[in-house]
Amino acid sequence: MLKTLFEAALDIVFPPRQVCPICAGHSPGSLLCPACRKRLDDYAGEIICPVCGAFGGAAGVTAGGSICPHCRRAGRAFDLARSVGPYEGPLRDAVHRLKYRGIKGLASPLGALMADVARSDPLLSQARALVPVPLSPDRERKRGFNQALLLARELEQHLQVPVLERAVVKIRETPPQAELSRQERLVNLTNAFIVPNPDLIMGKKITIIDDVFTTGSTVSIISHVLRQTGATVIMALTFAGTRFNANS
Ligand SMILES: [Zn+2]
Ligand SMILES: [Zn+2]
Repeated sequence: MLKTLFEAALDIVFPPRQVCPICAGHSPGSLLCPACRKRLDDYAGEIICPVCGAFGGAAGVTAGGSICPHCRRAGRAFDLARSVGPYEGPLRDAVHRLKYRGIKGLASPLGALMADVARSDPLLSQARALVPVPLSPDRERKRGFNQALLLARELEQHLQVPVLERAVVKIRETPPQAELSRQERLVNLTNAFIVPNPDLIMGKKITIIDDVFTTGSTVSIISHVLRQTGATVIMALTFAGTRFNANS
């Protein structure tokens, strides 16, 4: 619909408010507000664990080298995991607005930022399929959507890599992970996921997509399942990731 002259004049005096997708503050003209742009640039300058992508600060490494304690102690079922930044501050708030307040429109800008990460990584950019972390049917019904699938759909558009929506299915709910030890978590998650059609997975380089990577236990179990099914390279890309020593 055409704007009236009055509305057009109002737009000049009061330009449409643009909202930064990360901090929800005012963002004049571009995707991110200047503070969040700087925040992401700073994260991109941090030393990260080459395996799980845990952020280690600008000076970076621990005494044991650049591989984080968690990956050093126990091997990972995936080849590599990466994220836009650690799950803290405004990035955590953005995930909460998407996931718990149901602001589904946020998937578009957050997915675009994840696509930037995928394009700049030599291994991630080789992915031939995107697999969103599934919710159990009960959880998905209650929430009304799967945030991992929304993000994967955005990445599909940006990267021209197909989403395999039901490639991995969660067949039963698992108790809250925080109440369990690491070993209990792994046992708890085993057998929660199945691959209904192995032909979709076999011989492929796959990126698992989710909103958050914290302990990595969910991504690890899905990686095991994909590996058993014949995937050749298994990567994970999340909007928010972890820090050195967090939950390790
Ligand atoms: Zn911002
Ligand atoms: Zn690591």
